[in-house]
Amino acid sequence: MQAKAMAEAIQASQRPVFMTGAGVSTLSGIPDYRSMTGIYTTTGLKNPEYLLSRRAMIQDSKDWYSFVKQLYHPEAKPNLIHEAIARLGAPVITQNIDGLHAQAGSQELVEFHGSIRQHYCEQCGQDVKTEDFLDDYRHKACGGLVRPDVVFYDEAIKAETIEKAVELFETADSIFIVGTTFKVYPFASLIDVAPPEAKIYAINRESIALGNLEGTYLGDAKDVFELI
Ligand SMILES: [Zn+2]
Repeated sequence: MQAKAMAEAIQASQRPVFMTGAGVSTLSGIPDYRSMTGIYTTTGLKNPEYLLSRRAMIQDSKDWYSFVKQLYHPEAKPNLIHEAIARLGAPVITQNIDGLHAQAGSQELVEFHGSIRQHYCEQCGQDVKTEDFLDDYRHKACGGLVRPDVVFYDEAIKAETIEKAVELFETADSIFIVGTTFKVYPFASLIDVAPPEAKIYAINRESIALGNLEGTYLGDAKDVFELI
């Protein structure tokens, strides 16, 4: 599909649901996680999947902390894609932990892997401010480990998160998969609960391996959303 036809498909939908990934945030200056993976494998540091685990947080706190801190881009702002989706008032299920859909004002939002805008202490459960976490991973009040409210590789998605995502799908007449290769599970398997009559579209630089796509725009998501 052309960008214009895709933009029209979005605007013609009564109840679109957006499923978004890293490709919607690169325009905000947030590098795709996979480009960081490249840096780490070539410099011989510890495996990023390990460093993004609860196990690393507990056993290897210093390395875990210095890796996790690189995921923070406090200067990043929502871009035209986040803003267009928020303006449409459409539900969003995102893999991104950057909090930019929330910042853009999306109300019906499921941050499937959590968000680095919220932090708490593992030991006492107290909420901790982002700036305090970026200053120190030890909780000043009790000495416990502070962590972002995200789902690490060795953790399960919360049942309530999945329920909320499934709920958003129930009324969808179309689903737009944006800026993700759609290979992360269980995120990608959410598509299985989409209503059978819902039309599924993909907007991504690479094609997505889904058999029942109504249409694909192969390219940068910004080409489509700047028309909305
Ligand atoms: Zn504490």
